[in-house]
Amino acid sequence: MRLLYLTVLLGNFILISGEKVRYDNYHVYSINVESAKQLKVLQDLKNSHDGILFMETPISLGKPIDIVVSPHKFTNISALFNAYEIKNEIKIENLQTLIDAEQPEVLCSSFDWKQYHDTAAIYKWLDELIRRHRKILTDYTYGRSYENRPLRAVKLSHKAGNPTIFIESTIHAREWITVATATYILNELLTSRDAEIKALAKNFDWVFVPIVNVDGYEFAHTTNRLWRKNRNPYSDMWNCVGADLNRNFDFHHTEEGSSTDSCDETYAGPSSFSEPETLALSKFIKTFDNIKLYLSFHSYSQLLLFPYGHSTAVHATNHDDLYQIGQKTTQAIKRRYGTDYTTGNIAETIYLASGNSIDWVYAAHNVSLTYTFEFRDNGHFGFILPADQIIPNSLEVIDGLKAMINEAKLLQYL
Ligand SMILES: [Zn+2]
Repeated sequence: MRLLYLTVLLGNFILISGEKVRYDNYHVYSINVESAKQLKVLQDLKNSHDGILFMETPISLGKPIDIVVSPHKFTNISALFNAYEIKNEIKIENLQTLIDAEQPEVLCSSFDWKQYHDTAAIYKWLDELIRRHRKILTDYTYGRSYENRPLRAVKLSHKAGNPTIFIESTIHAREWITVATATYILNELLTSRDAEIKALAKNFDWVFVPIVNVDGYEFAHTTNRLWRKNRNPYSDMWNCVGADLNRNFDFHHTEEGSSTDSCDETYAGPSSFSEPETLALSKFIKTFDNIKLYLSFHSYSQLLLFPYGHSTAVHATNHDDLYQIGQKTTQAIKRRYGTDYTTGNIAETIYLASGNSIDWVYAAHNVSLTYTFEFRDNGHFGFILPADQIIPNSLEVIDGLKAMINEAKLLQYL
């Protein structure tokens, strides 16, 4: 067997292929960016790929950023914080303990929403579902991933002529709560006794792409829990593998908020739709001419975002409607457990991000309502959201979806 040596986070240990990356004693810091000088220092640090993993790209002032730091970099990072008076706090002392506690102690062999499942288990569950609901579910394999895994989707339809709601999930590999929530919603649409959910299932066609980034998702299960991009090998360096699929769409590709450096977490790819996963998804989306609502599931930050992401200078033509629907949605989400979401356009609410899927669907495929959900939480667990939050997250999101669809009907989008 050829041994593949990967230096993890350019850290102080070597990973042999097949072994899981461990984050023992890694700290997660929350840092505040208060001046242009601090911003520049952090951007340089991010671009240097020097043993620090940024959970977000430092683009604007006033927004806290989470970074993951390996133990051998603690001294350096403290010196940097002191030198530039960067306010910081250690949010997570030992990242590995979170990863170890993410799943329940005893894993169940059948499919449920009390634990996170890998691709094989999710695809097996889909197969069973399709067998059980032959008349209303349509099975699609709309392409193959870079590593030749099937790219799958399922459509739920009770009658012809329904408007379509399209849900895209897990374009970022480490955001495990997204596919867990997408599958929960699909199951509810098929089995719920709630009259409102039954009506939603009857009166709309629902298309689910549960795992857009199937190679990355698999890699996040087998090897590196914090993997984000796909697995297209742009270089042998461990972090230079993969493109950020949510920067690879053909709308203002490689403009603000994406990188042309393949070692970066937001590497946009050499050209738009260079990645088999995004090219196939875009072609698949184009086969539906009646999409009225497009949703992209992400985590974390508790945000509900709408176009545009490429620029703060331009608002979507129906910005006010998108905001109003967003507000009704976030109010409904809050009612059940008090979970606070913020809504707004991507560029002004979170950061600039060009080449993302919802901008492309909105602008190039003429869907007037496109939203990105950033699910739980606010960074206490971040991407490593414990599995016992899958159901609460799903329930509050379903509350939000009901409100979203009601308000969109009132404003005559549906
Ligand atoms: Zn994401």
